[in-house]
Amino acid sequence: MKLLEYEAKAILKRAEVPVPRSSLVRSLEDRPTLPAVLKSQVPTGGRGKAGGVCIIEDAAALPGAIRKILALPINGFTPKVLLAEERLAITHEYYLALLIDKPMAEIRLMAHRNGGVEVETNAPESFFALALDSKNTESAGEQLAEYLELPGQSFALQDIIEHLYKCFIANDATLLEINPLVLTASNHLVAGDCKMELDDAASFRHPEWQFEAKAANTNFVTLNKAGNIATIANGAGLAMATVDAVTGAGLVPANFLDIGGGANSASVLMAFRKIMEYSHVQAIVINIFAGITRCDEVARAIIEAREHLKGLPPLFIRLAGTNVDEAKHLLAEYTISMLPTLEACLAAAKKEVGRG
Ligand code: GDP
Ligand code: MN
Repeated sequence: MKLLEYEAKAILKRAEVPVPRSSLVRSLEDRPTLPAVLKSQVPTGGRGKAGGVCIIEDAAALPGAIRKILALPINGFTPKVLLAEERLAITHEYYLALLIDKPMAEIRLMAHRNGGVEVETNAPESFFALALDSKNTESAGEQLAEYLELPGQSFALQDIIEHLYKCFIANDATLLEINPLVLTASNHLVAGDCKMELDDAASFRHPEWQFEAKAANTNFVTLNKAGNIATIANGAGLAMATVDAVTGAGLVPANFLDIGGGANSASVLMAFRKIMEYSHVQAIVINIFAGITRCDEVARAIIEAREHLKGLPPLFIRLAGTNVDEAKHLLAEYTISMLPTLEACLAAAKKEVGRG
């Protein structure tokens, strides 16, 4: 589950990691303290480049900016709320992140001297990387201060890393990225932005998780980031069989997904959004045998996804069971066709991949 920036920063603040003073803006009636930086709260990066981050100096410019950013879609997301932050006097922007390295079974600290919106242009080997555990946060801070050429900030960095590490563990995070980590004119290090992802599978032990993006798709498993086929099925057995059939057809499944028995159109739509993050997927195979799940709910999600998600790969759909006739009618209205069997879906998907 991806948190919005303001949700992530609230967690950082409680963990004693410095964040800018802020307030939320939901409408023209809200009056943040100026000057301020207005930031679109969407669960996607690249907001700065897309026009979703705006510095407001005076009150006259505020209503126009609020209206503009609230209406601006970024990567298919339109914000419900904006974050208004005190403007920072930025001396330098660094990159700092904690992430889980699954193959190595470790939490990795990553950093770069040159953070900010162009961080991707840095060569991969130029990043600072270190396996972090509960015992080496102090020495990690020292090494980081040296790498960042910030000898005077060694203690501050030790503190930040220790707090980030505790926060990462306590919240069952899978990613915690601060970009930029800002060095201010008064020599303070402040988290200018924060992306945080939490492990949906841990939601059962976090009753306090009340975020905009509800924990869902706990049964979504990444199989291959470079896979060319995404799968959506219901029931663990059918979902596994679907993945196997994709492989059997000579295609590469990107994921396993069991949408579960109580899936509604909102949770299925969430699955489509998640699949959109897999840039190599060329076709989506949907294989539903509905008992408790209702085909019409799945159809509604399919229609909504087709209408609203730009760049959605072609869908190959097999639906059977509860309310399948209603689903067929709904889909037909949008000229979306169903196929009779999974084999037919795979054959069509294979043609699609061959074309790409
Ligand atoms: P992202 O593009 O979605 O990663 O959004 P960020 O929150 O990282 O903002 C993008 C860029 O806006 C940052 O790298 C900064 O250069 C700039 N920015 C953000 N907050 C401030 C601020 O308080 N003051 C100033 N001067 N620039 C800011
Ligand atoms: Mn950023």
